[in-house]
Amino acid sequence: PNSQYEMLRRRILSNTKEMWYFIHSGLLDVQKKANEVAPEIVDTVNGLLSLGLEHKRSLISDIEQLAEVDGYATWREKESNDLSNLVQDRLKFLQNPENCNTARKLVCSLNKGCGYGCQLHHAVYCFMVAYGTKRTLILKSKGWRYHKRGWEEVFLPISNSCTSPNGDSVASWPGNQETQVVNLPIIDSLSPRPPYLPLAIPEDLAPRLTRLHGDPIVWWVGQILKYLLRPQEKTADLIRQAMTQMGFKRPIVGVHVRRTDKVGTEAAFHGVDEYMSHVNDYYDLLETQRKVDKRRIYLASDDPKVHAEVRSKYSGYEIIGDPSIAKTAAVSTRYSDSSLFGIIYDIHMLSMSDYLVCTFSSQVCRVAYEIMQNYYPDASSRFRSLDDIYYYGGQNPHNVVAVLPHEPKRPGEMSLSVGDTVGVAGNHWNGFSKGKNLRTNQNGFYPGFKVKDKVETAKFPTYSEVRN
Ligand code: GDP
Repeated sequence: PNSQYEMLRRRILSNTKEMWYFIHSGLLDVQKKANEVAPEIVDTVNGLLSLGLEHKRSLISDIEQLAEVDGYATWREKESNDLSNLVQDRLKFLQNPENCNTARKLVCSLNKGCGYGCQLHHAVYCFMVAYGTKRTLILKSKGWRYHKRGWEEVFLPISNSCTSPNGDSVASWPGNQETQVVNLPIIDSLSPRPPYLPLAIPEDLAPRLTRLHGDPIVWWVGQILKYLLRPQEKTADLIRQAMTQMGFKRPIVGVHVRRTDKVGTEAAFHGVDEYMSHVNDYYDLLETQRKVDKRRIYLASDDPKVHAEVRSKYSGYEIIGDPSIAKTAAVSTRYSDSSLFGIIYDIHMLSMSDYLVCTFSSQVCRVAYEIMQNYYPDASSRFRSLDDIYYYGGQNPHNVVAVLPHEPKRPGEMSLSVGDTVGVAGNHWNGFSKGKNLRTNQNGFYPGFKVKDKVETAKFPTYSEVRN
């Protein structure tokens, strides 16, 4: 397929969703007002809401089926495998230099003072800079808060031949071309900032990736996680056992409810009914396409009360997920060792789901979404976040470009001229996103369908040593 076709197909899908966010939230406002001052139109509004929803469902279902009947499904599978193999081979090449005594290295310590998802993102960022500077990544993990004896007991070592952080010359970032060993700080205190940081993807992969995937940076992060998280045999066994025991089956929606220390500090509270209404939307859509034997979810949370609540309120669902995992997570959020298997398993199961419902303010959920990209050619629309849009901690500004002009209709809206660059702050899931127009410096809301994502690229090395 040509890229224009693929991009149009994805654009129609996401703008159909945007249109429904707009209409739905507008009608809910009208419904509220009607209840107060015009009860005679309440029935009409409810009728619009209900048939409107059916309209939307039917459209989405048809658009999704396009990708199954357009004849390119085989191409997508193959292209996705080829690209993944290419990147995995490059990472393997980078990590296994011929002579470790003379190899140029980048050293990172895994013990960033934060949770598991946050530490994984730290390691991924280190890997991006290693790939960008063509230095072998050395991950220091002895004394890791999640497993004292280190990363290598849980996951395969990231190098078979080169694990020593020593060398003839050592410097802190950025060092220079001749420095053998460079120590990299956490992204929050990185200076100067190299071009290799998210949301940038390698320029040489960009044409293929923008054709294949709806959110190339998520694919790129997913590839690095794929390499990093290759499990040790023991870890793989534990996961397999737990999966058999719990009876993992499809269809399944992964639901992650992040509570405890996060709520009120870094994220707002969302009730379980809100999560479950999106689960229902997913299954209502699926039922237009095939028979659904059982509405099934995998439930992960750091709060065991969530398990109890969902089980009592949603008894018609098959609920997979172990409340005792939440219990270990709750007593030891962020700072413990015993909780490691629980969080590995929860993230694994969420990423294996057909669809994710969660808050992207949580790194647990973002990691699951990133890993999910490894199981489909393009899983960029298989989620519903209750709060943030996708982001990477420490990223450079996320920019979009206006493709349609906009005149403000209500206070708080910005104007757009075609070609304007807008820095996105977030989606309000009502048809509008918030951001800053970089041409006019105006902050405000704009209709989401009037822009398109700008895919950022950087000149990473192209690894010509590795066969394409
Ligand atoms: P964030 O704080 O949600 O952005 O994600 P982090 O991964 O940085 O820190 C949260 C930590 O809380 C995780 O690493 C886990 O240790 C724990 N946690 C949060 N949610 C869950 C969950 O659903 N299951 C389990 N097992 N642990 C969780």
